[in-house]
Amino acid sequence: MGKRASRLFPKLIRLRNPVGSRPTLRRGAVVAALGFALSCQSVPLDAQERVDSSASPEPVGGARPPLEFQGERFSIPTRVPDAAIVPIRFKFDPARETPRDCSAKSGGKSFLFTPVGPGVWEALGVVAYTQKTPQVFDLECTVEFIGQVDPAKSKKVESARYTVQVEPRDYPKEALRVDPSKVNPSPKDLKRIQREVKVVGAIYRTLTPQRFWAGAWSKPVLGPQTSRYGNQRTFNGELRSSHQGIDFRAPTGTEILAPAIGKVALVKDLFFSGKTVILDHGFGLFTIYAHLSAFRVSQGEIVKPGRVLGLSGATGRAAGPHLHLGAVLQGVKFNPEDLFEVLK
Ligand SMILES: [Zn+2]
Repeated sequence: MGKRASRLFPKLIRLRNPVGSRPTLRRGAVVAALGFALSCQSVPLDAQERVDSSASPEPVGGARPPLEFQGERFSIPTRVPDAAIVPIRFKFDPARETPRDCSAKSGGKSFLFTPVGPGVWEALGVVAYTQKTPQVFDLECTVEFIGQVDPAKSKKVESARYTVQVEPRDYPKEALRVDPSKVNPSPKDLKRIQREVKVVGAIYRTLTPQRFWAGAWSKPVLGPQTSRYGNQRTFNGELRSSHQGIDFRAPTGTEILAPAIGKVALVKDLFFSGKTVILDHGFGLFTIYAHLSAFRVSQGEIVKPGRVLGLSGATGRAAGPHLHLGAVLQGVKFNPEDLFEVLK
């Protein structure tokens, strides 16, 4: 591995403490029962007041420990929280070898590698929110030796199996009282929800064979984070859902910015998440922007970081204006805080 690559790694794996906060926007709902792909949106009637009056966010759940990696040629974290991205790297000497056909397999999924620096290829795996046991990753790369004329010695298959420990996060409980009609959609609304589940599910099954982004991601809004991923919501005394994304304070009309390069995969008004934009960042990674008041992009567009996707609002099941950000990797929802903490 070259010196440049050596310098690259500490930067890639360095983590900041997550932006924690006290949940102020309280939502959640029937979505879990419906298996709805997008969100969690049912809001107490006082959510607007909470948005306006909430104090500065306070850390919740403590600092996230830095990632520790195992392995030499391949490196993979020894442990991650649940609902997390798992960065996997293959290191090689670019002066004498070229990787081919690298794959990282886990849980029936195969995660794609791409060059991210001199002598470094990277794949992003994922651990689901529901994952409670260690997760096994099977890693494999074929390396071709540059200048080797003997066909028998020109290639070598590098493979390894690693186990990643999964540490459940401490998810706060939230007891909410909501309008029962927001917990129990009408039969007509249920049909609409089922249609939307199919549309969104088909998008998440797309595996665009390019990784569009490179480097760090920026936040989609300047406002503070007001709710964390996975909060356990009890509605009217009954456990109904968990928060499947993170929320940012964003008064109505706030510009929502693309945090990384992506292709606009959906621009649609959905029952739960309201006016929603979904970006396809390639390699099965999607981000979701919900409850917008207006759209500023069209389906199929390629957007660069900083491009205005739309304006924040309170459409769908939201009583107060804010931005709900979701994230999905190969069909698995994960904590979007990782976009800003792991992708560097
Ligand atoms: Zn949310």
